[in-house]
Amino acid sequence: MKNEKIIDGKKLAAEIRSKVRTLSDVFKSKTNITPGLAVVLVGENPASKVYVKNKIKQTEEVGFNSFEHKLPIETPEQDLLNIVDSLNKNKDVNGILVQLPLPDHINSDKVLDKILPEKDVDGFHAMNVGKLWSGLDALVPCTPLGCSIMIKKIFDDLSGKKAVIVGRSNIVGKPMAALLLKMNATVTIVHSRTKNIEDICKDADILVAAVGVPEMVKGSWIKEDCIVIDVGINRIEVNNKTKLVGDVDFNQALDKASLITPVPGGVGPMTIACLLLNTLNATHSQNGMKQPELGSLLE
Ligand code: NDP
Repeated sequence: MKNEKIIDGKKLAAEIRSKVRTLSDVFKSKTNITPGLAVVLVGENPASKVYVKNKIKQTEEVGFNSFEHKLPIETPEQDLLNIVDSLNKNKDVNGILVQLPLPDHINSDKVLDKILPEKDVDGFHAMNVGKLWSGLDALVPCTPLGCSIMIKKIFDDLSGKKAVIVGRSNIVGKPMAALLLKMNATVTIVHSRTKNIEDICKDADILVAAVGVPEMVKGSWIKEDCIVIDVGINRIEVNNKTKLVGDVDFNQALDKASLITPVPGGVGPMTIACLLLNTLNATHSQNGMKQPELGSLLE
């Protein structure tokens, strides 16, 4: 019974990747163009290295061309900007991703704004942020896009539903709010300066936790039959072993929620699947073609 409440992000991400592969093959047969994704990594951050390795592997698995730039930590900002510039000009590259965080001597905003908006598959360029908030077609940050696909599978229209997002980062919380608004939800964002977070969460029909505090959201904060989307990825020590947990106390929340994403295996796998989807969409737009529909994935 409890298993039926768990949203299987791994399975849904595999379905998206398979769909991306099929749509990419159709695109290639029509145009003779293979979508290309460039990933730039500066430094040796262990988590970033794992993310980049997985991104490259999955890029190749869906049949895209993968371009890798692994740069030493001392790379000057101007060198990185030059690389982005050359990727902007490279016709074989349809999507560019600069892995964050960047070392302290590099201004991330400057680098992200250097990426051509039409190749900005992370959706962090100010142009894409503005378009998203204006309700226009935009490249949308991959993690909230993945969450919205999960939610759309449950309710296509959120009219009359209250959504609460815990966290207001540019990467997750804010774009998540824009996407939920687009789906007609009534949206509240809470953050570290908010009072009575628990009471606000208790009112949510949909609760998205993107805060980076292990198991912060307790079962008692969750309304009966709420849909809980846990974006958090936190490593904690239990009995001398490292364990991955979300921002929600999963076991407590499972009793209350109607549906909930686990950690791992929930939102995490959706992020790379949506990166590939964004790259496919960007390739279509750059070649004057309509973005393909996800079709049955959203039924
Ligand atoms: P950030 O650190 O950028 O933002 C965290 C947000 O949570 C901030 O808005 C902060 O508020 C708020 N916050 C922090 N502490 C509290 C608190 N005690 N009470 C209320 N609000 C608080 O994190 P991200 O958005 O980048 O990531 C959030 C989580 O999601 C992390 O665990 C991260 O690892 C995970 N993540 C997972 C991804 C995936 O692929 N599944 C992708 C990206 C992130 P304020 O703004 O006031 O400081």
